Amino acid sequence: MSTGGSAAGRPEDPQASSGPRASSGRRRPFAHFDWNARSCGLHGHVTYAPTETALAARLAASTPAGTAWRCLRCGSYVVGSPRGRGPAAEAPIVLRGRALRDAFILRLLAVERGLRGLVLLALAYGVWKFNGAKASLQQVFESYLPAARPLADRLGIDLTETGPVHTIEHLFALTKSTLVLVALAVLAYGALELTEAVGLWLLRRWGEYVAVVGTSVFVPLEVYELVEKLTWLRISASLLNLFAIGYLLWTKRLFGLRGGHRAFQRQRRGESLLEVEQTAMLQATPQSRAEGQGIRSVLR
Ligand SMILES: [Zn+2]
Repeated sequence: MSTGGSAAGRPEDPQASSGPRASSGRRRPFAHFDWNARSCGLHGHVTYAPTETALAARLAASTPAGTAWRCLRCGSYVVGSPRGRGPAAEAPIVLRGRALRDAFILRLLAVERGLRGLVLLALAYGVWKFNGAKASLQQVFESYLPAARPLADRLGIDLTETGPVHTIEHLFALTKSTLVLVALAVLAYGALELTEAVGLWLLRRWGEYVAVVGTSVFVPLEVYELVEKLTWLRISASLLNLFAIGYLLWTKRLFGLRGGHRAFQRQRRGESLLEVEQTAMLQATPQSRAEGQGIRSVLR
């Protein structure tokens, strides 16, 4: 039975399997980690009283302490007035279970991209300031950005060793005029990383596309660099990028993969507690069926 849903006839909660009570024979990391409980612990429960009476009745329970409303995220009943009220169609979109895990991983990637982008912008500025003298980017980095150095080192980012910077450096003989081009190329690369970071942090579909395309275009370069010289830094950077591409393609069903955006939305709807209750309501009494049909058509 579902998390917290003790009343008889409650529909099966699709996200309950990600809860702590789930037990499966397979060994999976985070199999017993409850993303819903973590999120509710951090941000509080999301209770909502829909104006549709039949649906409201399914989400509320009377207790000796007063009316309790079901949290749309973790499914627990919370005593007290609901956080929000209104038509079901205007209920907040609540990320649950797998969607919460995805959001967490995407934001970790966003932070990594963001930090890399900021350091790249600083590097572009350093190259531009250094315009005129012949030096490698390594020297520019060391003499002009000593403050950024410890941070980059701690993050395991050696900008002159990984990714396009290394190749950009080799493409141009570092003369006075070409240093400006190097600065512009590094600036563009930094801007791309920051765009990816913003899109991923905001959990936008365009951000996922930018991240996949923006990361994929540098894969041939990374392969070339790995063939040229194998270092742990290059290997780990490439593995992280390949993971990001694969993870985004697979879980977000980009480019029509696994049914594409429609399948992705269908999956999200199937995970929504409000939708689960509505589906159950449709299978219940004929009078509530008419009401539920109305709500569903609004939600589609
Ligand atoms: Zn909750």
